[in-house]
Amino acid sequence: MTEEVSVPESHPRYESLLTRHRIEAGVERGITSKQGLIAEGRGEAFDYLLGEETTDSADRAARAAAAYLLSAEHAVVSVNGNAAALVPEELVELADVTGAELEVNLFNRSRERIEAIADYLREHGAEGVKGLDADARIPGLDHERAKVDSDGIYDADVVLVPLEDGDRAEALGEMGKTELVVDLNPLSRSPQVATVPIVDNIIRAIPTITDHARELAGDPAAQQAAIETFDADAALADAKRRIREVEA
Ligand code: ATP
Repeated sequence: MTEEVSVPESHPRYESLLTRHRIEAGVERGITSKQGLIAEGRGEAFDYLLGEETTDSADRAARAAAAYLLSAEHAVVSVNGNAAALVPEELVELADVTGAELEVNLFNRSRERIEAIADYLREHGAEGVKGLDADARIPGLDHERAKVDSDGIYDADVVLVPLEDGDRAEALGEMGKTELVVDLNPLSRSPQVATVPIVDNIIRAIPTITDHARELAGDPAAQQAAIETFDADAALADAKRRIREVEA
């Protein structure tokens, strides 16, 4: 079971409280790092400014991301401690629907934490979780942060990286990969270097991508159209505009 919280769904801050509770439980289980708590706080601030909902523009980005995942030769969904704590089941479902693989990929690597996350994903139905071999390196990054699986992220043509740090996002882009980034901060480098920046809370973004993937599956023409009509700069501009125009 994903960690739950004893607050009714009707509570106006339900989603935010649930998110905090899952992150806290993630730290207690050894899945999420303490820096993950800080990242969550930063994310929440942006979510608040964005109205705590999936905007039309984020929905289009999620659709393009679904199309890229479905039409990839080899798609991998990178999973860090925050993503695992927040949406374990949803990540497994996304991987099932799109045929993508799941790879644990941490900023602050430790064998224990990687294994704890892989176990947690398996508890939620994942099979064949990658990230434990770490037998290849992303060029241009220091040793620990460069580690990936040679038959996982290193080999992938399309990578979904929720909450990735800017350096790694940039380095993956330089390897020629199509990068799909979920990040609530449109000013952060990761969404700025992404092929598809999805400026939305991962809690909403992953199920939205999965819904689009279900609809686009088996329809290469619709997938192509979702990719071709998507405009990354416009998506970032929309998110920034929304933040500027927020009203109390
Ligand atoms: P920069 O690219 O500006 O250097 P960073 O990678 O150092 O930023 P972190 O402090 O590591 O940023 O935070 C990770 C990012 O994840 C933040 O931009 C934050 O908005 C985002 N984030 C945190 N929680 C969520 C969430 N639940 N859903 C989506 N994005 C989130």
